[in-house]
Amino acid sequence: MTKPILLSTPHIGDRELEFIKEAFDTNWIAPVGPHIDAFEQEFCEITGAGHAAAVSSGTAAIHLSLQLIGVKPGDEVFCSTLTFVATANPIIYLGAKPVFIDSDRTSWNMNPDLLREALEHRARIGKLPKAVVVVHLYGQSADINPILEACNQYEVPLIEDAAEALGATYKGRSPGTFGRIGIYSFNGNKIITTSGGGMLVSDEPELVAKARFLATQARDPAPHYQHSEIGYNYRLSNVLAGIGRGQLRVLNERVAVRRRNYEIYASALGNLPGIKFMPEATFGRATRWLTCLIVDPKAFGTNREQVRLALAKQQIETRPVWKPLHLQPVFAECECIGGEVAEDLFERGLCLPSGSNLTTQDLDRVIQAITAVSTDAQKTYTYLSQS
Ligand SMILES: *Cc1c(COP(=O)(O)O)cnc(C)c1O
Repeated sequence: MTKPILLSTPHIGDRELEFIKEAFDTNWIAPVGPHIDAFEQEFCEITGAGHAAAVSSGTAAIHLSLQLIGVKPGDEVFCSTLTFVATANPIIYLGAKPVFIDSDRTSWNMNPDLLREALEHRARIGKLPKAVVVVHLYGQSADINPILEACNQYEVPLIEDAAEALGATYKGRSPGTFGRIGIYSFNGNKIITTSGGGMLVSDEPELVAKARFLATQARDPAPHYQHSEIGYNYRLSNVLAGIGRGQLRVLNERVAVRRRNYEIYASALGNLPGIKFMPEATFGRATRWLTCLIVDPKAFGTNREQVRLALAKQQIETRPVWKPLHLQPVFAECECIGGEVAEDLFERGLCLPSGSNLTTQDLDRVIQAITAVSTDAQKTYTYLSQS
């Protein structure tokens, strides 16, 4: 039987088991312990973040961020539309309303001009959003400087969802460390993983301390159990933090291999008619967490979905680019500013198998499969245009 080739699977290094064993040997299994402190500190060293709180998921980190900023029922929160649903769900958890913002074509991330115009308009009518959540998609940073400038001008706090962008840079610095709060994810498909987990970072120590407090059931400092606020059970366990410490040590290698995957795909497929890869914006270095391409049906001869299905038949998993949140049934009532770019990227975009543990044979199989679809499509295309 043909071996399935998956989109992005966990890739464990040499040190993780050692750290787990240390947690077992010292009986630090609970969501407290030395690995957590070390993981947070090492994460700050690698990203340049000021302070960090390790939590149970990226989604939990977003939920805490919005709460720390004071998002309340009825508030509006601006949010990238081209992203995974986990970016926006916590806005709903808090009873607030997302207002989606379209992407630009240079980074596929939030369009800074649209954001500025929207903030300008909202300032005029006295209805500024409570926060802006910008996403750094597929390992590429959004154009943070103009986004941050617009937020600062209207005094709206910026939260960065860098779940997919650990290891990337924006003008030499880590996306996730520019806004008031940044979040990361260590889910199984991300560039490094703790099996499940997340990180919340900020330069403000009080915010991060408050995040830890809320993540551990908001317990007041008293010998008995006393609570003056509603909290959550969102802390990462010490065992999983041990996995994270091991994974941090291989992050740079993982980035290098994912970029290499992209190079191999791009040099083999980049000249096929109707194929274009996700651009790398000049303001930073993308990790190519996922290699994404655009299938132009006219020039390619068939559409993205036919490519996906042809590859699925050969046990190769690919995925359409995120379906924009403003098109999701669950957000049907929400406002979206622009939307055409994200809709087009969804319509024509495909994510290829991109794991750092793929072999060159795996990559070759993907390349052969796409080339075969292209050859077939071109034949049919030539035939049709001649007849
Ligand atoms: C994975 C992901 C999340 C959620 O992270 P979890 O750790 O799975 O909760 C949030 N935003 C984006 C953009 C993601 O890709």
